[in-house]
Amino acid sequence: MCGIIGISDHPEASKIAYLGLYALQHRGEEAAGIASYDTQVHIIKDRGLVFDVFNEAALDSLKGSVAIAHTRYSTTGSSNVKNCQPFLVTHRNRPIAVAHNGNLTNTEELYRKLEDEGSIFQTSMDSEILVHLLAKTPNHDYKKWFVDMLAQLKGAFSVVFMVEDTLVGARDRQGFRPLVLGKLGDGYMLASETCALDLTKAEFIREIEPGEIVIIKGSKIESLFLPGCDKSKKAQCIFENIYFARPDSHIFNDNVYLVRKRLGAQLAKESPVKDADFVMPIPDSGVYAALGYANELKVPFEVGMIRNHYIGRTFIQPSQFLRDFRVRVKLNPISDVIRGKKVIVVEDSIVRGTTSRSRVREIRKAGAKEIHMRITCPPIIFPCFYGIDFPSSEELIAYGKTVAEVAKFIEVDSLEYLSLDGMLSVMKDSGAFCHACFTGKYPVDVPSNKSKYQLEGKA
Ligand code: 5GP
Ligand code: MG
Repeated sequence: MCGIIGISDHPEASKIAYLGLYALQHRGEEAAGIASYDTQVHIIKDRGLVFDVFNEAALDSLKGSVAIAHTRYSTTGSSNVKNCQPFLVTHRNRPIAVAHNGNLTNTEELYRKLEDEGSIFQTSMDSEILVHLLAKTPNHDYKKWFVDMLAQLKGAFSVVFMVEDTLVGARDRQGFRPLVLGKLGDGYMLASETCALDLTKAEFIREIEPGEIVIIKGSKIESLFLPGCDKSKKAQCIFENIYFARPDSHIFNDNVYLVRKRLGAQLAKESPVKDADFVMPIPDSGVYAALGYANELKVPFEVGMIRNHYIGRTFIQPSQFLRDFRVRVKLNPISDVIRGKKVIVVEDSIVRGTTSRSRVREIRKAGAKEIHMRITCPPIIFPCFYGIDFPSSEELIAYGKTVAEVAKFIEVDSLEYLSLDGMLSVMKDSGAFCHACFTGKYPVDVPSNKSKYQLEGKA
């Protein structure tokens, strides 16, 4: 998963982009980058958090009124410096930079075809394919150029390009990943989520539609659509609502916080627990759903565990003595609240099951009498090919197991998941979502080579 930003026609484009990246830090913590353009292109990118990658001097050097930016969470290619974005090339003296969120599903076909035609790739990211395709597509007219290029892609892409001083934004035909448009002074801002517009005081205009391309030059914006767009085939990633997006964002025509509360309330209707003392979330991601659950069940809500927001990266290797250190440094249960209590623990999702198990152990050690876990999505049993790092089925804890078996692994007294119908029932447009990770119903054909390292010869 990644976060992307595009800014046009603003005297401090790179600084706005930087603030926007701060708001999108949750979408990727591995690397960050900004490219800007005045009469030439400027770019700074590196591994690390937004705060680590930029300082004042760096931002001052990113001159120009147009910028694109990216925070990275690797889904294709490993986490090395070459794979940071924006990805920049110069073709016939024209700089082209791209920042991409999502995974293409025809990566391998496109890569092999381009290599057969003589392309030389520098990275193992599917995003590099975009600039090679651009360079090869006849480009007398921007509209035709981008439609012809983007029409060759399959799978998930929300993407921003900067070609000299022109900003282009686009979303794949299914609209897997979010992308929103805002007005910023005379110019425009594109961002993965509206929380980035809020921070920079850009005014939300609308979402970029699935299959839409916007071409922005200065304060002028043009919109066009990829051929073959079909509104009835929208497949927005429901996991953005469940876990990924920030709760203060408005994406997919809804507010993420309110969706999560509704998911929690629906779960309480489906799977209540009798005579519980209180509902507690696993912070932070489970908080909003737990609120919805507690309100619906009319059971008190307690914060039984505190999250440390300053952990960063630690150099201490846990010894036998400090064996639970990694879990406790991030989340510490409040034993005075938990001791002797029958607790309902609400969590947004279980993926591999390992962190859930260690947190449950901590709650148990803090003295809980009974632990009943409730999850606001169905069991995740299929990998994601559209940008979320859900691994092979074998690594997913719910794959091939009954709910009772997962409960045993997580070491809880009871475990219930939200039903598929229940989850969809609280969405505003329930037919417009991809839920392949729960159902295996992939809206776009999945690649035959499923490794995220498919372009590194490791697969
Ligand atoms: P598990 O118990 O499966 O090891 O971890 C479940 C936890 O991981 C939940 O708290 C959930 O919020 C979180 N989670 C779900 N999806 C992702 C993801 O894509 N990345 C990260 N870092 N955490 C995730
Ligand atoms: Mg979580």
